[in-house]
Amino acid sequence: MPYTYDDQNIFAKILRGEIPNKTVLETEHSLAFHDIGPQAPVHVLVIPKGPYVSYDHFAREASDAEILDFTRAVGKVCEMTGVTLDEGQGFRAISNAGAHGVQEVPHLHIHILGGRRLGKMLQPE
Ligand code: 5GP
Repeated sequence: MPYTYDDQNIFAKILRGEIPNKTVLETEHSLAFHDIGPQAPVHVLVIPKGPYVSYDHFAREASDAEILDFTRAVGKVCEMTGVTLDEGQGFRAISNAGAHGVQEVPHLHIHILGGRRLGKMLQPE
């Protein structure tokens, strides 16, 4: 079944400038901004500008340039927020997808979480 992208999702609206965001980094193909409901002292979302629902969708259909830009943007956000292993104390990168992943916003995003010890990865629902 093909991936279907809903261009009314909240991150599509952020990309179109219809909803404000606290931008951390903008590159040619990616945008990073603070999560509206931070779960940790560092909680930044990194999204591609293209219409991709999930990481697997992006990995399958994005161009090499988009993938390179997005990957580098994730690394840059880690540097900018001070969570890299050389300068900081680490982080967690999470990308929820679909029903089992309990994805709220159907536009690919990677959560970069850090700034405190985060505890076990999965909690019971
Ligand atoms: P998901 O559950 O899809 O992995 O995560 C969606 C994330 O988007 C949540 O952490 C939520 O707080 C964040 N979020 C939802 N709406 C907005 C918004 O309008 N602005 C920002 N900056 N974050 C949002």
